[in-house]
Amino acid sequence: MAPGALPCSLCWVSSQSGSYLFANTLPDPTSLIPGEYDSSTVPELKSIDLKEETVQGKKRLCRVGVAVTNEDFRRWAIAEKALSLPADVILVEVTIGGVNGPMCHGAGITHKTLSDYVRRLEYVDCHGRLQIVDDAVQIQAAAGTFGILGVVTHITYAVMKPLKEDVGLGVPPIDKDDIPVALRSAWFDAPDADQQLASATTRFNNRAANEYYSDENNTPTYKTFLPNALHFRRGTQNMRVRDIELQIPLPLRKDGPSKPDFSIVQRAWWDIIKLVYKDADVGSDPSSAMRVALEMRLMAPQKGNDLGTLSIEVLTLPDAVADDEWHEFAQRAIDIRMSYGGNTRPHWAQKWDYFKFKGIETSKYLKEVAYIDQIPEFRDMLSKIGKQHGWMLDELQRRFSNELWDKLVYE
Ligand SMILES: Cc1cc2nc3c(=O)[nH]c(=O)nc-3n(C[C@H](O)[C@H](O)[C@H](O)COP(=O)(O)OP(=O)(O)OC[C@H]3O[C@@H](n4cnc5c(N)ncnc54)[C@H](O)[C@@H]3O)c2cc1C
Repeated sequence: MAPGALPCSLCWVSSQSGSYLFANTLPDPTSLIPGEYDSSTVPELKSIDLKEETVQGKKRLCRVGVAVTNEDFRRWAIAEKALSLPADVILVEVTIGGVNGPMCHGAGITHKTLSDYVRRLEYVDCHGRLQIVDDAVQIQAAAGTFGILGVVTHITYAVMKPLKEDVGLGVPPIDKDDIPVALRSAWFDAPDADQQLASATTRFNNRAANEYYSDENNTPTYKTFLPNALHFRRGTQNMRVRDIELQIPLPLRKDGPSKPDFSIVQRAWWDIIKLVYKDADVGSDPSSAMRVALEMRLMAPQKGNDLGTLSIEVLTLPDAVADDEWHEFAQRAIDIRMSYGGNTRPHWAQKWDYFKFKGIETSKYLKEVAYIDQIPEFRDMLSKIGKQHGWMLDELQRRFSNELWDKLVYE
């Protein structure tokens, strides 16, 4: 921390071997300060290095230090004009280590969580030794471990060649003349412009149905420009929010055995909007407890679901909404979504501990219902990694666990 700087963002990490306090400065200006990511001036934990190609011309490995922020990585990807991750969380001031730890995700029905793109993990183990996990099976357990495996230093991702789309063709307008003059590029006046627009529309429809879908609805109380609404991405990291996100498996369509039934998406979206307006209609206060946004994404299938995952999230401002009001609203939103059936579960990275799922306290629900098979599998895999790396599970627990992980993983 620079002398005189205020230690505004504090992170308290408590384990059985002691408690540690990390300080950061607020507001975090990373994304506001102009400049390029410069690999020659950064410390080891901020390094980004391209490694070998894994799919010719399309995919390469990339070793990234855990202190690299998403904004650093975005600047690096733009400067390189070559490769990027296929998806990412929408915040930019979070770290690569922090996005991987709780298995965060972006959007798109073919896109998995960020931890699914990890190919190698370097970490400092409970004895202070640097270790590497790169076995294809072990990495599935080691990639997103919330810090209980050890202190991760570098993550090697499979990164892909991004597609650069013209602004007028990425989300093509219904009428070509809707594109403002400033955004018209060469194709606009080309003789085959209509054909180009028609092909772009087909590509767009196909992508929406098969590859990428992300949407956002702001509460009735707040209006803002779309770039700000997209998660207040230049500010949310600097304000406290309450946030609960559920991941719902897409069910089978009744008439097409191998296809997902997208009507659950429509249902989940409108059920929450109805809940917001129902709240707003009651009494003299026209606001709902959801003061920031309702967000929804389609994602790739997750373990135990084959057709895809619907992620749906509600956010509010703690300073504007009382605890009781939020808890009641969020619990009602959870109950509605749990009523759709399937192995619905909260996103690990959100605040789920206060709520109940099917009437069961969340950590119990996670352990005994949602991840009944996966948590023992995870523990066994940790144990196997430990055998190879010279540590035992109880040593790991003593060094890196806390009450929550004791209960969820070790008991
Ligand atoms: C408003 C908002 C929007 C969000 N949007 C999304 C979204 O779009 N998609 C999504 O999936 N998530 C989303 N999240 C969750 C968010 O992405 C995570 O909270 C964030 O990535 C954490 O990053 P951080 O750098 O603050 O890490 P921290 O909060 O510091 O750490 C997160 C976890 O990773 C572990 N960890 C961090 N670094 C290391 C390391 N070096 N070694 C070992 N363990 C480590 C920590 O112990 C902790 O368990 C959102 C959260 C908020 C508040």
